[in-house]
Amino acid sequence: MPSDCLFCRIVNREIPASIVYEDDRVLAFNDIDPQAPTHVLIVPKRHVASLNDLQPGDDAMVGELVRRAAAIAGERGIAAGGYRTVFNTNRGAGQTVFHIHLHLLGGRSMHWPPG
Ligand code: 5GP
Ligand code: ZN
Repeated sequence: MPSDCLFCRIVNREIPASIVYEDDRVLAFNDIDPQAPTHVLIVPKRHVASLNDLQPGDDAMVGELVRRAAAIAGERGIAAGGYRTVFNTNRGAGQTVFHIHLHLLGGRSMHWPPG
């Protein structure tokens, strides 16, 4: 687990975060710079840098991230109206933290295509 990884440090409680969900494998917390009324980051507790580093054995973990996003959307009452889930991968797509995280954005209308 890289000691310089921001999200590993949040997982390890070395840096505070507004946590909205936790289990043995997954942590979800509010984005520090929210881009929508709901902006939650869902991360695996185990460090994986990006989607490019996923292995076949990670399929269940990825499924858990996605299903947790849907569950949080349901709890927030934004599931029926619609929400967006995003994995940014590498710098050209805007990835700034190299520990996989699924953005859950909702509570406002979304435009397509994204910028
Ligand atoms: P990326 O740009 O890598 O897809 O997303 C990284 C996200 O992490 C950004 O939306 C950014 O606002 C958020 N972020 C950066 N530093 C922190 C932090 O210290 N705490 C929290 N909760 N979010 C952070
Ligand atoms: Zn990490």
